[in-house]
Amino acid sequence: MNVADGEIVDAILLKSHFEKSYDIDNADVILFNTCAIRDKAEKTLLYKLDYITGLKHRNVKKRIIVGILGCMAQRQKEDLLQHKHVDFVIGPDEYRRIPDIIDEIMSHNGKVNATTLSLCETYGDISPHYKQGVSAYIPISRGCDNFCAYCIVPYTRGRERSRDIDSILREVKLLQQQGFKDVTLLGQNVNGYRYNSYDFAKLLDAVAVTAPNIRIRFLSSHPKYFNEDIVKAISSHKNICKYIHLPVQSGSNHMLKIMNRNYTREQYLEQIHMMREILGQDVAISTDIMCGFCGETDADHKETLSLMEEVKFDYSFTFAYSERQGTYASKHLKDDVDKNTKIKRLNEIIKLQCQHSLEKYQKCIGKTYEVLVEKKSKRDQEEWTGRIDSYKVVVFKNPSQSTQITVGDIVNVKINSCSSATLKGEMI
Ligand code: SAH
Ligand code: SF4
Repeated sequence: MNVADGEIVDAILLKSHFEKSYDIDNADVILFNTCAIRDKAEKTLLYKLDYITGLKHRNVKKRIIVGILGCMAQRQKEDLLQHKHVDFVIGPDEYRRIPDIIDEIMSHNGKVNATTLSLCETYGDISPHYKQGVSAYIPISRGCDNFCAYCIVPYTRGRERSRDIDSILREVKLLQQQGFKDVTLLGQNVNGYRYNSYDFAKLLDAVAVTAPNIRIRFLSSHPKYFNEDIVKAISSHKNICKYIHLPVQSGSNHMLKIMNRNYTREQYLEQIHMMREILGQDVAISTDIMCGFCGETDADHKETLSLMEEVKFDYSFTFAYSERQGTYASKHLKDDVDKNTKIKRLNEIIKLQCQHSLEKYQKCIGKTYEVLVEKKSKRDQEEWTGRIDSYKVVVFKNPSQSTQITVGDIVNVKINSCSSATLKGEMI
Protein backbone atom coordinates (compact mmCIF):
# COMPACT_ATOMS: atom_id res chain seq x y z
CA MET A 1 0.00 0.00 0.00
CA ASN A 2 2.89 2.35 0.73
CA VAL A 3 4.45 1.69 -2.66
CA ALA A 4 1.11 2.46 -4.31
CA ASP A 5 0.64 5.62 -2.23
CA GLY A 6 4.18 6.71 -3.17
CA GLU A 7 3.25 6.39 -6.85
CA ILE A 8 0.15 8.57 -6.30
CA VAL A 9 2.26 11.21 -4.53
CA ASP A 10 4.83 11.11 -7.35
CA ALA A 11 2.04 11.68 -9.89
CA ILE A 12 0.66 14.65 -7.91
CA LEU A 13 4.10 16.28 -7.57
CA LEU A 14 5.19 15.67 -11.16
CA LYS A 15 1.95 17.16 -12.44
CA SER A 16 2.74 20.27 -10.40
CA HIS A 17 6.17 21.87 -10.93
CA PHE A 18 8.39 19.35 -9.12
CA GLU A 19 11.05 16.96 -10.40
CA LYS A 20 12.01 13.69 -8.79
CA SER A 21 15.50 13.42 -7.29
CA TYR A 22 17.13 10.08 -6.57
CA ASP A 23 19.88 11.65 -4.48
CA ILE A 24 18.82 12.49 -0.94
CA ASP A 25 21.96 14.57 -0.35
CA ASN A 26 21.06 16.97 -3.16
CA ALA A 27 17.26 17.11 -2.86
CA ASP A 28 15.48 20.34 -1.89
CA VAL A 29 12.46 18.50 -0.49
CA ILE A 30 12.69 15.16 1.31
CA LEU A 31 9.51 13.14 1.89
CA PHE A 32 9.26 10.09 4.12
CA ASN A 33 6.39 7.74 3.37
CA THR A 34 5.77 5.99 6.67
CA CYS A 35 4.12 2.89 8.12
CA ALA A 36 2.65 2.58 11.63
CA ILE A 37 1.63 -1.07 11.67
CA ARG A 38 4.35 -2.18 14.09
CA ASP A 39 6.79 -0.45 16.41
CA LYS A 40 9.72 -1.57 14.25
CA ALA A 41 8.32 0.25 11.20
CA GLU A 42 8.01 3.44 13.22
CA LYS A 43 11.56 3.18 14.63
CA THR A 44 12.87 3.11 11.05
CA LEU A 45 11.69 6.68 10.54
CA LEU A 46 13.36 7.89 13.72
CA TYR A 47 16.73 6.56 12.50
CA LYS A 48 16.17 8.27 9.16
CA LEU A 49 15.42 11.58 10.85
CA ASP A 50 18.83 11.30 12.56
CA TYR A 51 20.33 11.17 9.06
CA ILE A 52 18.47 14.38 8.19
CA THR A 53 19.93 16.11 11.24
CA GLY A 54 23.44 15.23 9.95
CA LEU A 55 22.52 16.31 6.41
CA LYS A 56 21.29 19.68 7.61
CA HIS A 57 24.50 20.20 9.63
CA ARG A 58 26.53 19.55 6.49
CA ASN A 59 24.39 21.94 4.40
CA VAL A 60 23.74 24.83 6.77
CA LYS A 61 23.23 27.32 3.95
CA LYS A 62 20.69 25.29 2.02
CA ARG A 63 16.95 25.27 2.79
CA ILE A 64 15.86 21.62 2.88
CA ILE A 65 12.16 20.94 3.42
CA VAL A 66 11.25 17.71 5.21
CA GLY A 67 7.77 16.17 5.12
CA ILE A 68 6.41 13.03 6.79
CA LEU A 69 3.66 11.25 4.85
CA GLY A 70 1.35 8.36 5.62
CA CYS A 71 0.21 6.44 8.66
CA MET A 72 2.83 7.59 11.13
CA ALA A 73 2.13 11.22 10.20
CA GLN A 74 -1.56 10.54 10.79
CA ARG A 75 -0.94 8.89 14.15
CA GLN A 76 1.78 11.09 15.64
CA LYS A 77 0.98 14.44 14.00
CA GLU A 78 2.02 17.02 16.60
CA ASP A 79 4.77 14.87 18.13
CA LEU A 80 6.49 14.60 14.75
CA LEU A 81 6.04 18.31 14.06
CA GLN A 82 7.94 19.03 17.26
CA HIS A 83 11.05 17.55 15.66
CA LYS A 84 13.33 20.43 14.77
CA HIS A 85 13.76 19.36 11.17
CA VAL A 86 10.23 18.27 10.26
CA ASP A 87 8.33 20.96 8.31
CA PHE A 88 5.04 19.19 7.65
CA VAL A 89 3.02 16.05 8.26
CA ILE A 90 0.46 14.73 5.75
CA GLY A 91 -1.96 11.89 6.41
CA PRO A 92 -3.03 9.33 3.75
CA ASP A 93 -6.10 11.33 2.65
CA GLU A 94 -4.41 14.71 2.13
CA TYR A 95 -1.82 13.95 -0.53
CA ARG A 96 -3.45 16.31 -3.05
CA ARG A 97 -2.31 19.23 -0.89
CA ILE A 98 1.40 18.36 -0.98
CA PRO A 99 2.45 20.79 -3.78
CA ASP A 100 0.65 23.73 -2.15
CA ILE A 101 2.01 22.90 1.27
CA ILE A 102 5.60 22.76 -0.01
CA ASP A 103 5.15 26.07 -1.84
CA GLU A 104 3.63 27.63 1.25
CA ILE A 105 6.52 26.52 3.46
CA MET A 106 9.06 27.70 0.86
CA SER A 107 7.60 31.18 0.84
CA HIS A 108 6.47 31.65 4.44
CA ASN A 109 8.37 29.06 6.52
CA GLY A 110 6.32 27.69 9.45
CA LYS A 111 5.02 24.16 9.94
CA VAL A 112 1.92 22.47 8.50
CA ASN A 113 -0.27 19.70 9.90
CA ALA A 114 -2.52 18.17 7.19
CA THR A 115 -4.08 15.09 8.75
CA THR A 116 -7.81 15.27 8.15
CA LEU A 117 -9.25 11.89 7.18
CA SER A 118 -11.84 11.73 4.39
CA LEU A 119 -14.94 9.61 3.85
CA CYS A 120 -14.64 9.66 0.07
CA GLU A 121 -11.04 10.27 -1.11
CA THR A 122 -9.89 7.41 -3.38
CA TYR A 123 -7.51 9.33 -5.72
CA GLY A 124 -9.55 7.61 -8.45
CA ASP A 125 -8.85 10.35 -11.00
CA ILE A 126 -5.08 10.21 -10.45
CA SER A 127 -3.10 7.82 -12.58
CA PRO A 128 -0.16 6.76 -10.37
CA HIS A 129 3.36 7.38 -11.63
CA TYR A 130 4.28 3.71 -12.08
CA LYS A 131 7.83 2.49 -11.72
CA GLN A 132 9.26 1.06 -14.93
CA GLY A 133 8.95 -2.68 -15.11
CA VAL A 134 6.40 -5.36 -15.77
CA SER A 135 4.35 -5.25 -12.56
CA ALA A 136 2.12 -2.54 -11.11
CA TYR A 137 -0.29 -1.99 -8.22
CA ILE A 138 -3.78 -0.58 -8.72
CA PRO A 139 -5.39 0.61 -5.49
CA ILE A 140 -9.10 -0.28 -5.58
CA SER A 141 -10.13 0.67 -2.06
CA ARG A 142 -8.81 2.60 0.91
CA GLY A 143 -9.26 2.45 4.67
CA CYS A 144 -10.73 -0.27 6.83
CA ASP A 145 -13.83 -0.64 9.00
CA ASN A 146 -12.97 -3.95 10.63
CA PHE A 147 -11.28 -2.71 13.78
CA CYS A 148 -9.35 -5.87 14.60
CA ALA A 149 -8.42 -5.35 18.25
CA TYR A 150 -4.66 -5.11 17.60
CA CYS A 151 -4.64 -2.98 14.46
CA ILE A 152 -3.93 0.71 13.91
CA VAL A 153 -5.04 0.81 10.24
CA PRO A 154 -8.69 1.89 10.81
CA TYR A 155 -7.38 4.86 12.82
CA THR A 156 -4.63 5.94 10.42
CA ARG A 157 -6.33 5.25 7.08
CA GLY A 158 -9.90 5.98 8.03
CA ARG A 159 -13.18 4.55 6.78
CA GLU A 160 -13.37 1.94 4.05
CA ARG A 161 -14.30 3.25 0.58
CA SER A 162 -14.13 1.81 -2.92
CA ARG A 163 -12.69 3.47 -6.00
CA ASP A 164 -15.10 3.92 -8.90
CA ILE A 165 -15.16 1.05 -11.35
CA ASP A 166 -14.58 3.17 -14.47
CA SER A 167 -11.35 4.64 -13.18
CA ILE A 168 -10.07 1.16 -12.26
CA LEU A 169 -10.85 -0.23 -15.72
CA ARG A 170 -9.31 2.84 -17.38
CA GLU A 171 -6.16 2.27 -15.34
CA VAL A 172 -5.92 -1.41 -16.25
CA LYS A 173 -6.36 -0.61 -19.94
CA LEU A 174 -3.65 2.05 -19.74
CA LEU A 175 -1.25 -0.37 -18.07
CA GLN A 176 -1.89 -2.94 -20.77
CA GLN A 177 -1.15 -0.34 -23.47
CA GLN A 178 2.07 0.61 -21.67
CA GLY A 179 3.25 -3.00 -21.75
CA PHE A 180 2.72 -3.98 -18.11
CA LYS A 181 2.14 -7.70 -17.69
CA ASP A 182 1.20 -8.20 -14.05
CA VAL A 183 -1.22 -6.11 -12.01
CA THR A 184 -2.12 -6.40 -8.33
CA LEU A 185 -5.46 -4.96 -7.22
CA LEU A 186 -4.79 -3.48 -3.82
CA GLY A 187 -6.72 -2.67 -0.66
CA GLN A 188 -6.88 -3.53 3.05
CA ASN A 189 -9.88 -5.76 2.28
CA VAL A 190 -10.17 -6.02 -1.48
CA ASN A 191 -13.08 -8.43 -1.18
CA GLY A 192 -15.06 -5.74 0.64
CA TYR A 193 -15.09 -3.86 -2.70
CA ARG A 194 -18.50 -2.40 -3.48
CA TYR A 195 -19.31 0.19 -6.13
CA ASN A 196 -22.87 0.50 -7.49
CA SER A 197 -23.78 -3.02 -8.62
CA TYR A 198 -20.14 -4.23 -8.53
CA ASP A 199 -18.87 -6.43 -5.75
CA PHE A 200 -15.34 -7.84 -5.79
CA ALA A 201 -16.16 -10.93 -7.87
CA LYS A 202 -17.79 -8.74 -10.55
CA LEU A 203 -14.85 -6.36 -10.47
CA LEU A 204 -12.46 -9.29 -11.03
CA ASP A 205 -14.54 -10.39 -14.02
CA ALA A 206 -14.52 -6.90 -15.51
CA VAL A 207 -10.78 -6.40 -15.01
CA ALA A 208 -9.95 -9.81 -16.50
CA VAL A 209 -12.01 -9.08 -19.61
CA THR A 210 -10.64 -5.54 -20.00
CA ALA A 211 -6.99 -6.64 -19.89
CA PRO A 212 -6.70 -10.15 -21.32
CA ASN A 213 -2.90 -9.83 -21.70
CA ILE A 214 -2.27 -8.99 -18.07
CA ARG A 215 -1.89 -11.38 -15.15
CA ILE A 216 -4.19 -10.24 -12.37
CA ARG A 217 -3.61 -10.65 -8.63
CA PHE A 218 -5.21 -9.09 -5.55
CA LEU A 219 -4.15 -8.29 -2.01
CA SER A 220 -5.39 -8.67 0.82
CA SER A 221 -8.64 -10.55 1.26
CA HIS A 222 -10.47 -10.85 4.55
CA PRO A 223 -11.81 -14.33 5.43
CA LYS A 224 -14.94 -12.72 6.92
CA TYR A 225 -16.35 -12.05 3.47
CA PHE A 226 -14.34 -14.28 1.19
CA ASN A 227 -16.76 -16.34 -0.91
CA GLU A 228 -17.36 -18.80 -3.72
CA ASP A 229 -18.21 -16.09 -6.27
CA ILE A 230 -14.66 -14.76 -6.01
CA VAL A 231 -13.15 -18.21 -6.48
CA LYS A 232 -15.45 -18.88 -9.44
CA ALA A 233 -14.33 -15.61 -11.05
CA ILE A 234 -10.71 -16.73 -10.61
CA SER A 235 -11.42 -20.11 -12.13
CA SER A 236 -13.23 -18.70 -15.15
CA HIS A 237 -10.42 -16.40 -16.36
CA LYS A 238 -7.04 -17.70 -17.48
CA ASN A 239 -5.41 -14.35 -16.71
CA ILE A 240 -6.43 -14.27 -13.03
CA CYS A 241 -3.63 -15.92 -11.09
CA LYS A 242 -4.44 -19.03 -9.12
CA TYR A 243 -2.97 -17.46 -6.04
CA ILE A 244 -4.87 -16.26 -2.98
CA HIS A 245 -3.54 -14.40 0.04
CA LEU A 246 -5.94 -14.95 2.92
CA PRO A 247 -4.63 -13.74 6.30
CA VAL A 248 -5.65 -16.06 9.13
CA GLN A 249 -3.69 -14.45 12.04
CA SER A 250 -4.26 -17.37 14.44
CA GLY A 251 -5.47 -20.96 14.47
CA SER A 252 -7.15 -20.61 17.85
CA ASN A 253 -10.84 -19.72 18.02
CA HIS A 254 -10.25 -18.14 21.39
CA MET A 255 -7.64 -15.76 19.91
CA LEU A 256 -9.67 -15.07 16.75
CA LYS A 257 -12.54 -13.95 18.95
CA ILE A 258 -10.35 -11.65 21.10
CA MET A 259 -8.81 -10.26 17.91
CA ASN A 260 -12.30 -9.46 16.60
CA ARG A 261 -11.65 -11.28 13.32
CA ASN A 262 -15.26 -12.46 12.91
CA TYR A 263 -14.58 -15.98 11.68
CA THR A 264 -13.65 -19.28 13.27
CA ARG A 265 -10.87 -21.73 12.54
CA GLU A 266 -13.47 -24.08 11.07
CA GLN A 267 -14.88 -21.41 8.74
CA TYR A 268 -11.38 -20.52 7.58
CA LEU A 269 -10.56 -24.16 6.85
CA GLU A 270 -13.84 -24.52 4.96
CA GLN A 271 -12.80 -21.62 2.71
CA ILE A 272 -9.45 -23.27 2.00
CA HIS A 273 -11.26 -26.48 1.16
CA MET A 274 -13.64 -24.63 -1.17
CA MET A 275 -10.73 -22.93 -3.00
CA ARG A 276 -8.98 -26.27 -3.54
CA GLU A 277 -12.20 -27.93 -4.69
CA ILE A 278 -12.84 -25.26 -7.32
CA LEU A 279 -9.31 -24.27 -8.36
CA GLY A 280 -7.54 -27.59 -7.83
CA GLN A 281 -4.94 -28.66 -5.27
CA ASP A 282 -2.25 -26.57 -7.02
CA VAL A 283 -3.79 -23.22 -6.14
CA ALA A 284 -1.17 -21.25 -4.19
CA ILE A 285 -2.33 -19.96 -0.81
CA SER A 286 -0.47 -17.57 1.47
CA THR A 287 -1.37 -15.96 4.77
CA ASP A 288 -0.43 -13.54 7.56
CA ILE A 289 0.13 -14.98 11.02
CA MET A 290 0.53 -12.96 14.20
CA CYS A 291 1.75 -14.56 17.43
CA GLY A 292 1.95 -13.36 21.03
CA PHE A 293 -1.29 -11.38 21.06
CA CYS A 294 -2.83 -10.57 24.46
CA GLY A 295 -3.57 -13.70 26.48
CA GLU A 296 -2.16 -16.15 23.90
CA THR A 297 -1.29 -19.42 25.68
CA ASP A 298 0.94 -22.26 24.56
CA ALA A 299 -2.23 -24.17 23.68
CA ASP A 300 -3.42 -21.30 21.44
CA HIS A 301 -0.01 -21.21 19.77
CA LYS A 302 -0.17 -24.98 19.13
CA GLU A 303 -3.55 -24.45 17.45
CA THR A 304 -1.84 -22.03 15.04
CA LEU A 305 0.88 -24.59 14.27
CA SER A 306 -1.76 -27.29 13.73
CA LEU A 307 -3.74 -25.05 11.38
CA MET A 308 -0.55 -24.48 9.41
CA GLU A 309 -0.08 -28.26 9.23
CA GLU A 310 -3.64 -28.68 7.99
CA VAL A 311 -3.44 -26.00 5.30
CA LYS A 312 0.24 -26.12 4.30
CA PHE A 313 0.54 -22.55 3.05
CA ASP A 314 2.84 -21.83 0.14
CA TYR A 315 4.16 -18.77 1.98
CA SER A 316 3.31 -16.77 5.05
CA PHE A 317 4.08 -13.34 6.41
CA THR A 318 4.70 -13.72 10.12
CA PHE A 319 4.70 -11.16 12.91
CA ALA A 320 5.04 -10.88 16.69
CA TYR A 321 2.33 -8.71 18.22
CA SER A 322 3.36 -5.11 18.79
CA GLU A 323 1.01 -2.97 20.86
CA ARG A 324 -0.30 0.13 19.07
CA GLN A 325 -1.55 3.04 21.12
CA GLY A 326 -5.22 3.88 20.60
CA THR A 327 -6.36 0.40 19.53
CA TYR A 328 -8.95 -1.61 21.47
CA ALA A 329 -6.19 -3.95 22.69
CA SER A 330 -4.04 -1.11 24.01
CA LYS A 331 -7.00 0.23 25.98
CA HIS A 332 -8.67 -2.94 27.24
CA LEU A 333 -6.30 -5.91 26.98
CA LYS A 334 -2.96 -6.72 28.55
CA ASP A 335 0.14 -7.22 26.37
CA ASP A 336 1.06 -10.13 28.64
CA VAL A 337 3.09 -12.48 26.44
CA ASP A 338 6.73 -11.72 27.22
CA LYS A 339 9.15 -10.78 24.45
CA ASN A 340 11.15 -14.02 24.59
CA THR A 341 8.00 -16.14 24.29
CA LYS A 342 6.85 -14.05 21.32
CA ILE A 343 10.20 -14.57 19.61
CA LYS A 344 10.22 -18.30 20.41
CA ARG A 345 6.72 -18.75 18.97
CA LEU A 346 7.53 -16.64 15.92
CA ASN A 347 10.62 -18.76 15.24
CA GLU A 348 8.58 -21.96 15.50
CA ILE A 349 6.07 -20.57 13.01
CA ILE A 350 8.81 -19.49 10.61
CA LYS A 351 10.58 -22.87 10.87
CA LEU A 352 7.38 -24.76 10.10
CA GLN A 353 6.57 -22.44 7.20
CA CYS A 354 10.03 -23.01 5.71
CA GLN A 355 9.38 -26.77 5.77
CA HIS A 356 5.99 -26.32 4.09
CA SER A 357 7.33 -23.88 1.48
CA LEU A 358 10.13 -26.32 0.66
CA GLU A 359 7.58 -29.15 0.25
CA LYS A 360 5.47 -26.95 -2.06
CA TYR A 361 8.50 -25.90 -4.10
CA GLN A 362 9.76 -29.49 -4.37
CA LYS A 363 6.43 -30.48 -5.91
CA CYS A 364 7.22 -28.13 -8.82
CA ILE A 365 10.38 -30.04 -9.79
CA GLY A 366 10.05 -31.75 -13.18
CA LYS A 367 7.09 -29.56 -14.21
CA THR A 368 7.07 -26.82 -16.84
CA TYR A 369 5.63 -23.38 -16.06
CA GLU A 370 4.93 -20.15 -17.90
CA VAL A 371 7.32 -17.61 -16.41
CA LEU A 372 6.95 -13.86 -16.72
CA VAL A 373 10.51 -12.57 -17.21
CA GLU A 374 11.29 -9.79 -14.73
CA LYS A 375 15.03 -9.11 -14.87
CA LYS A 376 18.55 -10.46 -15.30
CA SER A 377 19.77 -12.20 -12.18
CA LYS A 378 22.09 -10.05 -10.04
CA ARG A 379 24.42 -12.94 -9.26
CA ASP A 380 24.90 -14.40 -12.71
CA GLN A 381 24.44 -12.42 -15.94
CA GLU A 382 23.64 -15.67 -17.77
CA GLU A 383 20.59 -16.13 -15.56
CA TRP A 384 17.16 -14.50 -15.61
CA THR A 385 14.54 -14.23 -12.87
CA GLY A 386 10.77 -14.20 -13.23
CA ARG A 387 7.58 -15.40 -11.58
CA ILE A 388 5.06 -18.09 -12.26
CA ASP A 389 1.31 -17.63 -11.89
CA SER A 390 1.45 -18.55 -8.17
CA TYR A 391 4.00 -15.79 -7.54
CA LYS A 392 6.93 -18.17 -6.93
CA VAL A 393 10.27 -16.78 -8.08
CA VAL A 394 12.09 -18.74 -10.77
CA VAL A 395 15.76 -18.34 -11.66
CA PHE A 396 16.56 -19.83 -15.06
CA LYS A 397 19.00 -19.99 -17.93
CA ASN A 398 18.30 -19.67 -21.61
CA PRO A 399 20.45 -22.37 -23.23
CA SER A 400 19.33 -21.48 -26.75
CA GLN A 401 21.69 -19.13 -28.60
CA SER A 402 19.06 -18.40 -31.23
CA THR A 403 16.12 -17.35 -28.98
CA GLN A 404 16.53 -13.92 -27.45
CA ILE A 405 14.40 -13.04 -24.42
CA THR A 406 13.58 -9.68 -22.90
CA VAL A 407 11.89 -8.42 -19.76
CA GLY A 408 8.11 -8.85 -20.02
CA ASP A 409 8.26 -12.00 -22.16
CA ILE A 410 6.40 -15.08 -21.02
CA VAL A 411 8.59 -18.15 -21.51
CA ASN A 412 8.30 -21.86 -20.67
CA VAL A 413 10.70 -23.02 -17.99
CA LYS A 414 11.25 -26.58 -16.77
CA ILE A 415 12.02 -26.70 -13.04
CA ASN A 416 15.08 -28.75 -12.06
CA SER A 417 15.72 -27.83 -8.43
CA CYS A 418 14.64 -25.48 -5.63
CA SER A 419 15.22 -23.94 -2.21
CA SER A 420 12.37 -22.94 0.14
CA ALA A 421 12.19 -19.54 -1.59
CA THR A 422 13.26 -20.03 -5.22
CA LEU A 423 12.72 -22.42 -8.10
CA LYS A 424 15.58 -23.10 -10.53
CA GLY A 425 15.17 -24.26 -14.08
CA GLU A 426 15.95 -24.02 -17.74
CA MET A 427 13.99 -22.41 -20.55
CA ILE A 428 12.63 -24.88 -23.07
N1 SAH B 1 -6.02 -5.99 6.08
C1 SAH B 1 -5.19 -7.10 6.14
C2 SAH B 1 -3.85 -6.87 6.82
C3 SAH B 1 -3.23 -5.56 6.92
S1 SAH B 1 -1.92 -5.36 8.05
C4 SAH B 1 -5.88 -8.22 6.91
O1 SAH B 1 -6.74 -8.01 7.69
O2 SAH B 1 -5.47 -9.32 6.76
C5 SAH B 1 -0.81 -6.65 7.63
C6 SAH B 1 -0.52 -7.61 8.73
O3 SAH B 1 0.18 -6.98 9.78
C7 SAH B 1 -1.75 -8.19 9.42
O4 SAH B 1 -2.32 -9.22 8.69
C8 SAH B 1 -1.20 -8.65 10.75
O5 SAH B 1 -0.73 -9.98 10.67
C9 SAH B 1 -0.02 -7.70 10.97
N2 SAH B 1 -0.32 -6.75 12.04
C10 SAH B 1 -1.31 -5.83 12.10
N3 SAH B 1 -1.27 -5.17 13.27
C11 SAH B 1 -0.22 -5.70 13.98
C12 SAH B 1 0.32 -5.44 15.26
N4 SAH B 1 -0.20 -4.54 16.08
N5 SAH B 1 1.40 -6.16 15.65
C13 SAH B 1 1.94 -7.11 14.85
N6 SAH B 1 1.46 -7.39 13.62
C14 SAH B 1 0.40 -6.70 13.19
FE1 SF4 C 1 -6.17 -4.14 10.31
FE2 SF4 C 1 -8.09 -5.96 10.59
FE3 SF4 C 1 -8.43 -3.90 8.93
FE4 SF4 C 1 -6.72 -5.84 8.31
S1 SF4 C 1 -8.93 -6.06 8.55
S2 SF4 C 1 -6.37 -3.63 8.16
S3 SF4 C 1 -5.87 -6.38 10.29
S4 SF4 C 1 -8.24 -3.80 11.14
